[in-house]
Amino acid sequence: MNPIESIQNEISSSFPTVKLSPKENRVINFFKDATPLDWEDWRWQIRNRVRSLDVLNKFINLTKHEIKGIQGCGNKLTMSIPPYFASLMDPEDPKCPIRLQSVPQVHELEVSENEMRDPCGEDKNSPVHGLVHRYPDRVLFLVNEMCAMYCRYCTRSRMVGDGQRTLSTETYNAAFDYIRSNKKIRDVLISGGDPLTMSDRMLEHIIKTLKEIPHVEFVRIGTRIPVTLPQRITFDLVNMLKKYSPIWMSIHFNHPKEITKRVKFACDLLADSGIPMGSQTVLLKGINDKPAVMKKLMHELLKIRVRPYYIYQCDPILGSKHFRTPVSVGLNIIEKLRGHTTGYAVPTYVIDGPGGGGKIPLSSNYILAQDNGVYTLRNYAGKQFVYHDPQ
Ligand SMILES: *Cc1c(COP(=O)(O)O)cnc(C)c1O
Ligand code: SF4
Repeated sequence: MNPIESIQNEISSSFPTVKLSPKENRVINFFKDATPLDWEDWRWQIRNRVRSLDVLNKFINLTKHEIKGIQGCGNKLTMSIPPYFASLMDPEDPKCPIRLQSVPQVHELEVSENEMRDPCGEDKNSPVHGLVHRYPDRVLFLVNEMCAMYCRYCTRSRMVGDGQRTLSTETYNAAFDYIRSNKKIRDVLISGGDPLTMSDRMLEHIIKTLKEIPHVEFVRIGTRIPVTLPQRITFDLVNMLKKYSPIWMSIHFNHPKEITKRVKFACDLLADSGIPMGSQTVLLKGINDKPAVMKKLMHELLKIRVRPYYIYQCDPILGSKHFRTPVSVGLNIIEKLRGHTTGYAVPTYVIDGPGGGGKIPLSSNYILAQDNGVYTLRNYAGKQFVYHDPQ
Protein backbone atom coordinates (compact mmCIF):
# COMPACT_ATOMS: atom_id res chain seq x y z
CA MET A 1 0.00 0.00 0.00
CA ASN A 2 1.41 3.41 -0.88
CA PRO A 3 1.32 6.16 1.74
CA ILE A 4 -1.65 7.93 0.17
CA GLU A 5 -3.68 4.71 0.08
CA SER A 6 -2.88 3.99 3.68
CA ILE A 7 -3.99 7.48 4.70
CA GLN A 8 -7.17 7.12 2.72
CA ASN A 9 -7.95 3.75 4.28
CA GLU A 10 -7.33 5.22 7.64
CA ILE A 11 -9.69 8.07 6.91
CA SER A 12 -12.46 5.92 5.55
CA SER A 13 -12.35 3.77 8.64
CA SER A 14 -12.59 6.76 10.94
CA PHE A 15 -14.90 8.95 8.89
CA PRO A 16 -17.44 6.67 7.17
CA THR A 17 -18.23 9.65 4.95
CA VAL A 18 -15.69 12.41 4.80
CA LYS A 19 -17.78 15.47 5.30
CA LEU A 20 -16.19 18.88 5.09
CA SER A 21 -17.60 21.94 6.80
CA PRO A 22 -19.21 24.64 4.62
CA LYS A 23 -16.09 26.80 5.08
CA GLU A 24 -13.84 23.95 3.97
CA ASN A 25 -16.08 23.25 1.00
CA ARG A 26 -15.82 26.86 -0.06
CA VAL A 27 -12.03 26.71 -0.15
CA ILE A 28 -11.59 23.21 -1.61
CA ASN A 29 -13.54 24.40 -4.66
CA PHE A 30 -10.63 26.64 -5.58
CA PHE A 31 -8.39 23.57 -5.97
CA LYS A 32 -9.04 21.84 -9.24
CA ASP A 33 -10.18 18.19 -8.95
CA ALA A 34 -9.45 18.02 -5.21
CA THR A 35 -11.61 15.55 -3.31
CA PRO A 36 -12.48 15.42 0.39
CA LEU A 37 -10.01 12.55 0.66
CA ASP A 38 -7.27 14.80 -0.69
CA TRP A 39 -8.29 17.42 1.84
CA GLU A 40 -7.91 14.87 4.64
CA ASP A 41 -4.42 13.93 3.40
CA TRP A 42 -1.88 16.06 5.26
CA ARG A 43 0.64 15.77 2.46
CA TRP A 44 -1.93 17.21 0.04
CA GLN A 45 -2.46 20.08 2.49
CA ILE A 46 1.32 20.70 2.64
CA ARG A 47 1.74 20.53 -1.14
CA ASN A 48 -1.13 22.92 -1.66
CA ARG A 49 -0.26 25.52 0.94
CA VAL A 50 -1.22 29.03 -0.07
CA ARG A 51 2.03 30.78 -0.85
CA SER A 52 1.17 33.50 -3.33
CA LEU A 53 -0.86 36.64 -3.59
CA ASP A 54 -2.70 35.31 -6.64
CA VAL A 55 -4.00 32.23 -4.89
CA LEU A 56 -4.95 33.95 -1.64
CA ASN A 57 -6.64 36.76 -3.55
CA LYS A 58 -9.04 34.21 -5.03
CA PHE A 59 -10.65 33.43 -1.72
CA ILE A 60 -10.25 36.44 0.48
CA ASN A 61 -10.61 40.16 -0.11
CA LEU A 62 -7.09 41.37 0.57
CA THR A 63 -6.41 44.84 1.93
CA LYS A 64 -3.67 47.17 0.68
CA HIS A 65 -1.67 46.45 3.85
CA GLU A 66 -1.87 42.73 3.23
CA ILE A 67 -0.98 42.99 -0.44
CA LYS A 68 2.12 45.07 0.36
CA GLY A 69 2.98 42.69 3.18
CA ILE A 70 2.79 39.63 0.93
CA GLN A 71 4.84 41.35 -1.77
CA GLY A 72 7.49 42.41 0.72
CA CYS A 73 7.82 39.36 2.94
CA GLY A 74 9.51 37.15 0.34
CA ASN A 75 13.06 37.78 1.48
CA LYS A 76 11.99 37.62 5.15
CA LEU A 77 9.55 35.01 6.40
CA THR A 78 7.53 33.56 3.51
CA MET A 79 3.78 33.23 3.61
CA SER A 80 2.52 29.67 3.77
CA ILE A 81 -0.99 28.66 4.79
CA PRO A 82 -2.50 25.15 4.55
CA PRO A 83 -5.86 25.25 2.74
CA TYR A 84 -7.53 23.90 5.90
CA PHE A 85 -6.23 26.83 7.96
CA ALA A 86 -7.07 29.27 5.18
CA SER A 87 -10.65 28.00 5.24
CA LEU A 88 -11.00 29.41 8.76
CA MET A 89 -10.36 32.96 7.52
CA ASP A 90 -13.09 35.50 7.26
CA PRO A 91 -12.91 36.57 3.59
CA GLU A 92 -14.32 40.02 4.31
CA ASP A 93 -12.83 40.93 7.69
CA PRO A 94 -9.17 42.01 7.71
CA LYS A 95 -9.26 41.88 11.53
CA CYS A 96 -10.02 38.14 11.45
CA PRO A 97 -7.64 36.56 13.98
CA ILE A 98 -6.71 33.74 11.59
CA ARG A 99 -5.77 36.27 8.89
CA LEU A 100 -3.79 38.48 11.25
CA GLN A 101 -1.67 35.51 12.32
CA SER A 102 -0.97 34.09 8.90
CA VAL A 103 -1.18 36.83 6.25
CA PRO A 104 1.76 39.28 6.23
CA GLN A 105 0.97 42.94 6.70
CA VAL A 106 3.07 45.85 5.57
CA HIS A 107 3.94 46.64 9.22
CA GLU A 108 6.16 43.54 9.25
CA LEU A 109 8.63 45.45 7.15
CA GLU A 110 8.92 48.29 9.68
CA VAL A 111 11.61 47.75 12.29
CA SER A 112 11.16 49.48 15.67
CA GLU A 113 13.40 50.26 18.61
CA ASN A 114 14.50 47.35 20.82
CA GLU A 115 13.58 44.74 18.23
CA MET A 116 16.04 41.92 17.62
CA ARG A 117 16.76 39.15 15.17
CA ASP A 118 17.16 36.59 17.95
CA PRO A 119 15.27 38.13 20.90
CA CYS A 120 15.65 35.13 23.23
CA GLY A 121 19.39 34.83 22.64
CA GLU A 122 19.02 31.23 21.47
CA ASP A 123 21.99 31.27 19.12
CA LYS A 124 24.45 32.14 21.88
CA ASN A 125 23.15 29.34 24.16
CA SER A 126 23.64 26.77 21.44
CA PRO A 127 26.48 24.34 22.25
CA VAL A 128 25.98 22.39 19.01
CA HIS A 129 23.85 23.27 16.00
CA GLY A 130 20.17 22.55 16.72
CA LEU A 131 20.41 22.53 20.53
CA VAL A 132 19.61 25.38 22.91
CA HIS A 133 20.84 24.52 26.39
CA ARG A 134 19.71 27.17 28.85
CA TYR A 135 18.47 25.26 31.89
CA PRO A 136 20.80 22.59 33.30
CA ASP A 137 18.25 19.73 33.38
CA ARG A 138 16.53 20.20 30.04
CA VAL A 139 17.37 21.07 26.49
CA LEU A 140 15.56 22.45 23.48
CA PHE A 141 16.23 20.45 20.31
CA LEU A 142 15.36 22.33 17.11
CA VAL A 143 15.06 19.35 14.77
CA ASN A 144 13.99 21.14 11.59
CA GLU A 145 13.17 24.52 10.13
CA MET A 146 9.92 23.88 8.31
CA CYS A 147 6.40 24.62 9.60
CA ALA A 148 2.98 24.06 8.03
CA MET A 149 2.10 27.73 8.51
CA TYR A 150 4.52 30.56 9.23
CA CYS A 151 3.20 32.64 12.11
CA ARG A 152 3.91 36.26 11.34
CA TYR A 153 5.21 36.98 14.87
CA CYS A 154 7.40 33.85 15.06
CA THR A 155 10.19 34.20 17.57
CA ARG A 156 12.37 32.01 15.31
CA SER A 157 11.58 33.86 12.10
CA ARG A 158 15.36 34.26 11.67
CA MET A 159 15.65 30.54 10.96
CA VAL A 160 12.30 29.01 9.98
CA GLY A 161 11.32 28.47 6.36
CA ASP A 162 11.05 25.73 3.80
CA GLY A 163 14.64 26.08 2.56
CA GLN A 164 16.36 23.53 4.70
CA ARG A 165 13.69 21.06 5.67
CA THR A 166 15.72 18.88 8.00
CA LEU A 167 19.23 18.91 9.39
CA SER A 168 21.99 16.60 8.23
CA THR A 169 22.64 13.22 9.84
CA GLU A 170 25.92 14.56 11.24
CA THR A 171 24.12 17.47 12.89
CA TYR A 172 21.59 15.13 14.50
CA ASN A 173 24.35 12.82 15.67
CA ALA A 174 26.31 15.69 17.23
CA ALA A 175 23.16 16.73 19.13
CA PHE A 176 22.51 13.15 20.29
CA ASP A 177 26.13 12.87 21.44
CA TYR A 178 25.86 16.11 23.39
CA ILE A 179 22.73 14.91 25.19
CA ARG A 180 24.27 11.49 25.80
CA SER A 181 27.34 13.02 27.41
CA ASN A 182 25.36 15.44 29.63
CA LYS A 183 23.89 13.28 32.36
CA LYS A 184 22.02 16.22 33.86
CA ILE A 185 19.65 16.40 30.90
CA ARG A 186 16.47 14.60 31.92
CA ASP A 187 13.96 16.31 29.58
CA VAL A 188 14.32 16.97 25.86
CA LEU A 189 11.97 19.39 24.17
CA ILE A 190 11.74 18.60 20.46
CA SER A 191 10.78 21.69 18.49
CA GLY A 192 11.81 23.50 15.33
CA GLY A 193 10.31 24.65 12.91
CA ASP A 194 7.59 22.15 13.52
CA PRO A 195 8.72 18.55 14.18
CA LEU A 196 5.37 17.20 12.96
CA THR A 197 6.11 18.32 9.39
CA MET A 198 8.62 15.44 9.33
CA SER A 199 7.70 11.91 8.34
CA ASP A 200 6.68 9.44 11.03
CA ARG A 201 9.87 7.50 10.28
CA MET A 202 12.21 10.42 10.83
CA LEU A 203 10.37 11.54 13.94
CA GLU A 204 10.47 8.03 15.34
CA HIS A 205 14.21 7.85 14.73
CA ILE A 206 14.71 11.01 16.81
CA ILE A 207 12.39 10.01 19.64
CA LYS A 208 13.72 6.46 19.80
CA THR A 209 17.35 7.60 19.90
CA LEU A 210 16.57 10.07 22.68
CA LYS A 211 14.57 7.58 24.73
CA GLU A 212 17.45 5.11 24.55
CA ILE A 213 19.62 7.53 26.51
CA PRO A 214 19.30 6.33 30.12
CA HIS A 215 19.12 9.77 31.79
CA VAL A 216 16.46 11.14 29.40
CA GLU A 217 13.27 10.61 31.41
CA PHE A 218 10.87 11.82 28.74
CA VAL A 219 10.57 13.92 25.62
CA ARG A 220 8.19 16.70 24.77
CA ILE A 221 7.09 17.81 21.32
CA GLY A 222 6.45 21.51 20.71
CA THR A 223 4.14 21.94 17.73
CA ARG A 224 1.44 24.06 16.10
CA ILE A 225 0.36 21.33 13.66
CA PRO A 226 -2.72 20.12 15.58
CA VAL A 227 -4.05 23.68 14.99
CA THR A 228 -2.86 24.54 11.50
CA LEU A 229 -2.90 21.04 9.99
CA PRO A 230 -4.92 18.67 12.21
CA GLN A 231 -5.01 16.12 9.35
CA ARG A 232 -1.38 15.33 10.29
CA ILE A 233 -2.54 13.62 13.51
CA THR A 234 -3.13 10.22 11.94
CA PHE A 235 -3.67 6.84 13.56
CA ASP A 236 -0.21 5.81 12.37
CA LEU A 237 1.35 8.81 14.06
CA VAL A 238 -0.34 8.33 17.42
CA ASN A 239 0.35 4.60 17.36
CA MET A 240 4.02 5.36 16.84
CA LEU A 241 4.09 7.97 19.62
CA LYS A 242 2.30 5.60 22.01
CA LYS A 243 5.27 3.26 21.92
CA TYR A 244 7.50 5.90 23.49
CA SER A 245 5.22 6.96 26.36
CA PRO A 246 5.57 9.22 28.29
CA ILE A 247 5.59 11.88 25.59
CA TRP A 248 4.21 15.30 26.43
CA MET A 249 3.01 17.73 23.81
CA SER A 250 2.96 21.53 23.90
CA ILE A 251 0.59 22.93 21.32
CA HIS A 252 0.58 26.53 20.16
CA PHE A 253 -3.04 27.81 20.29
CA ASN A 254 -3.93 31.50 20.10
CA HIS A 255 -7.63 31.98 19.50
CA PRO A 256 -10.93 30.18 20.20
CA LYS A 257 -11.66 30.24 16.45
CA GLU A 258 -8.80 27.77 16.00
CA ILE A 259 -10.62 25.10 17.97
CA THR A 260 -12.77 23.47 15.31
CA LYS A 261 -14.42 20.06 15.20
CA ARG A 262 -11.48 18.85 13.13
CA VAL A 263 -9.00 20.08 15.75
CA LYS A 264 -11.03 18.45 18.51
CA PHE A 265 -10.85 15.16 16.61
CA ALA A 266 -7.05 15.44 16.39
CA CYS A 267 -6.69 16.31 20.09
CA ASP A 268 -9.02 13.46 21.06
CA LEU A 269 -6.75 11.06 19.19
CA LEU A 270 -3.72 12.42 21.03
CA ALA A 271 -5.38 12.41 24.45
CA ASP A 272 -6.82 8.92 23.93
CA SER A 273 -3.31 7.76 23.09
CA GLY A 274 -2.10 8.88 26.49
CA ILE A 275 -0.32 12.03 25.40
CA PRO A 276 -0.77 14.83 27.95
CA MET A 277 -1.15 18.16 26.18
CA GLY A 278 -0.40 21.72 27.25
CA SER A 279 -1.02 24.92 25.34
CA GLN A 280 1.36 27.76 24.67
CA THR A 281 -0.28 30.99 23.64
CA VAL A 282 1.36 34.16 22.39
CA LEU A 283 -0.30 37.36 23.57
CA LEU A 284 -1.09 39.27 20.37
CA LYS A 285 -2.57 42.70 19.86
CA GLY A 286 -5.99 42.65 18.22
CA ILE A 287 -6.05 38.83 18.33
CA ASN A 288 -6.27 37.64 21.93
CA ASP A 289 -5.53 40.72 24.04
CA LYS A 290 -9.06 40.96 25.45
CA PRO A 291 -9.66 39.07 28.72
CA ALA A 292 -12.95 37.64 27.38
CA VAL A 293 -11.26 36.18 24.28
CA MET A 294 -8.46 34.66 26.34
CA LYS A 295 -10.91 33.19 28.86
CA LYS A 296 -12.95 31.63 26.07
CA LEU A 297 -9.77 30.15 24.57
CA MET A 298 -8.76 28.63 27.92
CA HIS A 299 -12.23 27.14 28.40
CA GLU A 300 -12.28 25.68 24.90
CA LEU A 301 -8.85 24.15 25.52
CA LEU A 302 -9.98 22.38 28.68
CA LYS A 303 -12.92 20.97 26.72
CA ILE A 304 -10.50 19.28 24.31
CA ARG A 305 -8.25 18.08 27.16
CA VAL A 306 -5.46 20.59 26.60
CA ARG A 307 -4.16 22.20 29.79
CA PRO A 308 -3.25 25.89 29.43
CA TYR A 309 0.50 26.07 30.18
CA TYR A 310 2.01 29.42 29.17
CA ILE A 311 0.95 32.78 27.80
CA TYR A 312 4.01 34.39 26.26
CA GLN A 313 4.61 38.07 25.93
CA CYS A 314 5.19 38.45 22.16
CA ASP A 315 8.96 38.51 21.62
CA PRO A 316 10.39 41.69 20.09
CA ILE A 317 11.44 40.20 16.76
CA LEU A 318 12.12 42.56 13.86
CA GLY A 319 8.87 44.06 12.57
CA SER A 320 6.65 42.92 15.44
CA LYS A 321 5.43 46.22 16.90
CA HIS A 322 1.91 45.79 15.49
CA PHE A 323 1.58 42.51 17.41
CA ARG A 324 3.00 43.57 20.78
CA THR A 325 0.99 44.79 23.77
CA PRO A 326 2.14 46.48 26.98
CA VAL A 327 2.91 44.05 29.84
CA SER A 328 -0.04 45.53 31.77
CA VAL A 329 -2.39 43.92 29.23
CA GLY A 330 -1.04 40.44 30.04
CA LEU A 331 -1.13 41.05 33.78
CA ASN A 332 -4.73 42.19 33.57
CA ILE A 333 -5.69 39.06 31.63
CA ILE A 334 -4.20 36.77 34.29
CA GLU A 335 -5.83 38.83 37.04
CA LYS A 336 -9.20 38.33 35.31
CA LEU A 337 -8.65 34.56 35.10
CA ARG A 338 -7.18 33.63 38.49
CA GLY A 339 -9.99 32.90 40.93
CA HIS A 340 -12.62 33.90 38.40
CA THR A 341 -12.51 30.57 36.62
CA THR A 342 -11.23 26.99 36.92
CA GLY A 343 -7.66 26.93 38.18
CA TYR A 344 -6.70 24.59 35.34
CA ALA A 345 -7.73 27.35 32.92
CA VAL A 346 -5.07 29.72 34.24
CA PRO A 347 -1.69 29.49 32.50
CA THR A 348 1.53 31.20 33.62
CA TYR A 349 2.24 34.51 31.93
CA VAL A 350 5.92 34.74 30.99
CA ILE A 351 8.40 36.98 29.25
CA ASP A 352 11.33 35.22 27.66
CA GLY A 353 14.15 37.37 29.06
CA PRO A 354 15.51 39.44 26.15
CA GLY A 355 18.97 38.27 25.21
CA GLY A 356 18.58 34.85 26.86
CA GLY A 357 17.14 35.05 30.40
CA GLY A 358 14.74 32.16 29.99
CA LYS A 359 11.08 32.33 30.92
CA ILE A 360 10.34 34.86 33.65
CA PRO A 361 6.88 34.51 35.25
CA LEU A 362 4.80 37.63 35.84
CA SER A 363 1.72 37.91 38.00
CA SER A 364 -0.14 40.56 39.88
CA ASN A 365 0.70 41.01 43.50
CA TYR A 366 -1.52 39.38 46.10
CA ILE A 367 0.68 40.36 49.06
CA LEU A 368 -0.40 43.85 50.16
CA ALA A 369 1.93 44.11 53.14
CA GLN A 370 4.44 41.92 54.92
CA ASP A 371 5.81 42.54 58.39
CA ASN A 372 7.65 40.08 60.63
CA GLY A 373 5.85 37.02 59.33
CA VAL A 374 2.47 38.74 59.18
CA TYR A 375 1.08 38.92 55.69
CA THR A 376 -1.76 41.09 54.52
CA LEU A 377 -3.18 39.37 51.47
CA ARG A 378 -5.95 40.06 49.04
CA ASN A 379 -8.02 37.48 47.23
CA TYR A 380 -9.21 37.52 43.61
CA ALA A 381 -12.27 39.59 44.56
CA GLY A 382 -10.24 42.24 46.41
CA LYS A 383 -11.09 41.14 49.98
CA GLN A 384 -8.29 41.34 52.53
CA PHE A 385 -7.01 38.55 54.78
CA VAL A 386 -4.22 38.34 57.35
CA TYR A 387 -1.97 35.29 57.58
CA HIS A 388 0.59 34.60 60.35
CA ASP A 389 3.73 32.53 59.84
CA PRO A 390 4.28 29.83 62.51
CA GLN A 391 6.17 31.31 65.47
C1 LIG B 1 10.98 27.12 26.97
C2 LIG B 1 12.28 26.50 27.00
C3 LIG B 1 12.50 25.31 27.70
C4 LIG B 1 11.42 24.61 28.48
O1 LIG B 1 10.97 25.39 29.56
P1 LIG B 1 9.84 24.83 30.52
O2 LIG B 1 9.54 25.99 31.43
O3 LIG B 1 10.40 23.67 31.24
O4 LIG B 1 8.67 24.44 29.68
C5 LIG B 1 13.76 24.78 27.69
N1 LIG B 1 14.78 25.38 27.03
C6 LIG B 1 14.61 26.54 26.36
C7 LIG B 1 15.77 27.15 25.66
C8 LIG B 1 13.35 27.13 26.31
O5 LIG B 1 13.18 28.27 25.62
S1 SF4 C 1 4.73 27.14 14.21
FE1 SF4 C 1 6.16 27.94 15.77
S2 SF4 C 1 8.17 27.87 14.78
FE2 SF4 C 1 6.63 27.70 13.16
S3 SF4 C 1 6.27 29.78 12.45
FE3 SF4 C 1 4.74 29.38 14.04
S4 SF4 C 1 5.67 30.13 15.94
FE4 SF4 C 1 7.33 29.91 14.42
